[in-house]
Amino acid sequence: METADARPRIVIAGGGVAGLEVASTLGRHWRGERRAPEITLVDRDSAHVWKPMLHTIAAGTRDISQQQTTYLAQAREAGFTYHPGALCGLDRSAREIHMAPQHAPDGRLLIPPRRLGYDLLVLAVGSQANDFGTPGVAEHCFGIDSRRQADAFNREVRIRLLQCLVQDGRLDIAIVGGGATGVELAAELVQLVESAAGFGAPDLASHISITLLEAGPRLLAAFPEDISSATQARLEALGIRVMTGAQVSAATADGFELADGGRVEASLEVWAAGVKGPDFLSRLDGLEATRNNQLVVRPTLQTTRDPCIYAIGDCSSLVPAGAERPLPPTAQVAHQQAKYLIEALPRVLEGRPVRDFAYRDLGALVSLGDYDAFGSLGQFGLFNGVTFRGRLAQLSHVMLYRSHQARIHGFWRGGLLWLVDRLNSRLRAPIRLD
Ligand SMILES: Cc1cc2nc3c(=O)[nH]c(=O)nc-3n(C[C@H](O)[C@H](O)[C@H](O)COP(=O)(O)OP(=O)(O)OC[C@H]3O[C@@H](n4cnc5c(N)ncnc54)[C@H](O)[C@@H]3O)c2cc1C
Repeated sequence: METADARPRIVIAGGGVAGLEVASTLGRHWRGERRAPEITLVDRDSAHVWKPMLHTIAAGTRDISQQQTTYLAQAREAGFTYHPGALCGLDRSAREIHMAPQHAPDGRLLIPPRRLGYDLLVLAVGSQANDFGTPGVAEHCFGIDSRRQADAFNREVRIRLLQCLVQDGRLDIAIVGGGATGVELAAELVQLVESAAGFGAPDLASHISITLLEAGPRLLAAFPEDISSATQARLEALGIRVMTGAQVSAATADGFELADGGRVEASLEVWAAGVKGPDFLSRLDGLEATRNNQLVVRPTLQTTRDPCIYAIGDCSSLVPAGAERPLPPTAQVAHQQAKYLIEALPRVLEGRPVRDFAYRDLGALVSLGDYDAFGSLGQFGLFNGVTFRGRLAQLSHVMLYRSHQARIHGFWRGGLLWLVDRLNSRLRAPIRLD
């Protein structure tokens, strides 16, 4: 690597679970060093929200303004540079990324297209739901894949709830996708309606229906079967209609059409099924990508066709040695890969050897709002495959978020943020009412 004269440039594209952790930790690690690498974080958004909590932002059971971290403030605090905008292309021979132009909401051009040079590039641009080309989804369905999408859905939910109350109308919500995202959103919406009842709308629940549609034979296919069946029973007890084996063939303005000829009426539709990388990854200057637009990486997390480019988190695809399938797109994988790069990148810059990335499956958790939570322990440790639920699972879910905050903000600041959240939960309404 040519780093003799200039400071090496590390560009991280995507400030989510993985990217923000790498930028913040390495920024602090090298802060104050004269020959420290320049770390630049590029993100299309201006603030970070931990993605596994987007369903609570979408339902309004958490306030987005209290949970987001603005990149500019984080960059100053952790010692990296934030560059706003969306990565849209790559020139590997010039070692430059291409940034799309940025426009104001009224269409004015704010920042023209730009190029940014790198010595090492880390791609951590995440994933989005996959509609598998199903007609009508783009036109009629909300997604909750990003901070902005979750906030837009929440604005719509609040408008519709108000209409229900004032005009004595109905709100029929249908969610496609019985994975963790769909399951967690459905439970959170019940919690929203229940909390709203406490603010002067006692019979609101009778105006609202929630249907969860899953194409496969059971919810939460990635979890053990006993968790799937217990989750379904708990959701049904909360009043949610769960339909498994329901293959959606089209979305229309007033509901979903099913492959078996059936129909589910809905006035608010959410698509939370499937996972794929952003489309531009499939044509990124010859980098190898899967059918789902994920970049294929080696055990060192370097892309197969360019050792200067790393891909981590949901946008990467790594099949561990001896495994048949790639690692799943989860926050757990994203965090472990970030941790690996935090150790590996300084060694790469010093020309020292690096070990391969090794994934430790610590299990999985799903949270049903304040009602319940389920967990299963992974292949690592003594209790492989053991499942648990209730307070312990809820606390474990909370700890995932709190440890993410501690990693990006530092132990004490992360602890203070937790304290502020606890105080706010006593002082403020439990749902967004603005
Ligand atoms: C509702 C919900 C609940 C979930 N619950 C869990 C859970 O309980 N446990 C679990 O392990 N996983 C969960 N997940 C999955 C988990 O959130 C993801 O696996 C994880 O966020 C992946 O991290 P990442 O860093 O790869 O991507 P992300 O965290 O999605 O970050 C991607 C970043 O890239 C930015 N970006 C995207 N495109 C561009 C571009 N072109 N240019 C610049 N920046 C770009 C985005 O703005 C974002 O900041 C959940 C997901 C959802 C949606």
